[in-house]
Amino acid sequence: MNHAIRVHETGGPEKLMWEEVPLPQPKPGEALIRQKAVGLNYIDVYFRTGLYKAPSLPVTVGMEGAGVVEAVGDGVTSVAVGDRVAYAGALGAYAEARCAPADKLVKIPDGISFEQAAAMMLQGMTAQFLVRQTYQVKAGETILVHAAAGGVGLILVQWAKSLGATVIGVVSTPEKAALIKEHGADHALLTTDDIPAKVREITKGAMVPVVYDSVGKDTFITSLDCLRPRGLMVSFGNASGPVTTDLGILAAKGSLYVTRPTLNTYTAKRDDLVATANDLFAVVKSGAVKIRVNQTFPLKDAAKAHIALESRATTGSTVLIP
Ligand code: NDP
Repeated sequence: MNHAIRVHETGGPEKLMWEEVPLPQPKPGEALIRQKAVGLNYIDVYFRTGLYKAPSLPVTVGMEGAGVVEAVGDGVTSVAVGDRVAYAGALGAYAEARCAPADKLVKIPDGISFEQAAAMMLQGMTAQFLVRQTYQVKAGETILVHAAAGGVGLILVQWAKSLGATVIGVVSTPEKAALIKEHGADHALLTTDDIPAKVREITKGAMVPVVYDSVGKDTFITSLDCLRPRGLMVSFGNASGPVTTDLGILAAKGSLYVTRPTLNTYTAKRDDLVATANDLFAVVKSGAVKIRVNQTFPLKDAAKAHIALESRATTGSTVLIP
């Protein structure tokens, strides 16, 4: 017996259907995972709405999960039956049991629960590549982070802080402002503030070398206005819609750089995936980064979880329990 949340046609949260589906058998190179927790991510919304196209419909959405290996296909040597494993970036996660490519799986270290693993693989590895690879955040620098109380945001704030940066976070409510400060942010700005003016004040006119912006359309220009000349705009998400601005604006605002990175590229090679995951596990085990599972929903209620995420009602990470 197996159940999954499937989308037959793209649209609102009501398109997430809880259905009985066959138990898949692992093909060569795959492992069958009995899932204990599934991560909720904004990318799940993009697949549900059709902003990102699934290879075919119906599709089981979801990119991240944690569980126990129940069977392996031919040629799989990296994991074995009974292993506790987690993954990010494999479409098809909203299911009680699923097959995934074995080379996407990492073993969950002792001391990390299934819920924590499902909450952190995608958002935490994203924070890793953003602060350690896309731009190497250094002690003494001041950086700006949008959606700082969200899943990626709350991890990113803590990680940048542990690297010695001064962190300015932007959030939509005073409660979220308090939350990011509890997690180390030095300054919490509200989305209603004149953000470039506040950044100018905080940095004494220098502005910031890097902005991490996952909001997209609504904040793109504001973010550019917070950068110092030749600063880096890291546009890594579209919570408010995709950015469509002409590149000429980068010249006008000070020879700025812009990148639109994805976790997929940064972890495409197995060695890079393992190194990124190990770096994440290390900061979590050291206590430098705490994984906040602030919402839990039964998997069959994934629609409620999507409504909460899209209405900006969640903070930190959210997991779905099969
Ligand atoms: P979050 O928990 O951060 O949720 C989204 C947050 O964005 C909200 O809580 C809200 O915070 C803010 N927001 C601003 N404008 C809107 C809007 N119009 N609608 C909804 N939310 C809005 O989600 P995740 O941590 O899962 O993902 C964060 C972002 O990072 C997403 O854009 C996602 O696509 C991106 N991402 C990109 C990856 C990559 O590889 N490039 C990998 C992982 C995530 P507030 O209320 O404080 O404004």
